[in-house]
Amino acid sequence: MKFWQERPAILQGGTCKMSKELVFGHQSPDTDAITAAIAYSYYQNQLGYETEPVALGEPNDETRYALDHFNMKAPRVVKTVANEVDKVMLVDHNEPQQSAPDIDKVTVTHVVDHHRIANFNTAQPLYYTARPYGCVSTILTEMFQQKHIDIPANLAGMMLSAIISDTLLLKSPTTTDHDREAVKYLAKVANVDYEEYGLAMLKAGTNIAKRSDMDIVEGDAKSFTLGGKSVRIGQVNTVDLDDVFARQADLEKTMHSEMDKNNYDLFILIVTNILNSDSDLLVTGEPTDVVEKAFGKKLSDQHRMNLPGVVSRKKQVVPPLTDAFEG
Ligand code: MN
Ligand code: MN
Repeated sequence: MKFWQERPAILQGGTCKMSKELVFGHQSPDTDAITAAIAYSYYQNQLGYETEPVALGEPNDETRYALDHFNMKAPRVVKTVANEVDKVMLVDHNEPQQSAPDIDKVTVTHVVDHHRIANFNTAQPLYYTARPYGCVSTILTEMFQQKHIDIPANLAGMMLSAIISDTLLLKSPTTTDHDREAVKYLAKVANVDYEEYGLAMLKAGTNIAKRSDMDIVEGDAKSFTLGGKSVRIGQVNTVDLDDVFARQADLEKTMHSEMDKNNYDLFILIVTNILNSDSDLLVTGEPTDVVEKAFGKKLSDQHRMNLPGVVSRKKQVVPPLTDAFEG
């Protein structure tokens, strides 16, 4: 076959045909991971790429509430990606241990993220957009605006939901003016009262009684390598800490079995009260003295530590732990 016969689109004056890419967020996806994949895929398709948003897990209760509210479909769930495509775009993460298990077998062409960059290497140059905002959906809102691409109302509702989720209704210390501006803009496009809707959405994600021990422990967990140790950090939102700690023994059992199965050294569950913005840590494994050093506090006999005003894993838990492990 001759060169030109392989590329009919060029001869017809159309756009050059590119192979499809998958767009996805981190494992144990939260509302931002799911929404950013949908939004970034839509954005790239408007610019002529062929992409599909997918997810590395099922949406959680909060995300489901948002998808239902705005009449959107959850992205297809995939376990691996190299069996389908050669190229991928990452949103809401970059660390390989939070990504698809076969991420090393594909080329990452684009990243849009708001986390620390760690253990991330590529063989090829790429588009990498990192901004220290409260949410990827805020970065994407600005990217849509810069390219003058309209955000459909239901997608705007999802992006609004993601910002509310990541910033706990703009109360987390990760919140920036960019997030506040994006919320105002998206609420107008989606035509919702964001405070009323946002609290209802956050509460929909806190139905502890309905959730299994595994789901509470692992539902939002992420892995970090800190000072050579494998550290697993989960987070669960609640409107009453007692709803979670009434099940502490069972939760610890689940944390221990996950540690054994996956060779984690340390497992920390952050239990966050979304109404008063406080958290209690539940800590299993070792080294616990490093956790105490990180927060300048002793763990209770119950393996717990109360941290008033702490709601952000990314900004208030991982950095002090990193300092304590590596400092
Ligand atoms: Mn996320
Ligand atoms: Mn995020």
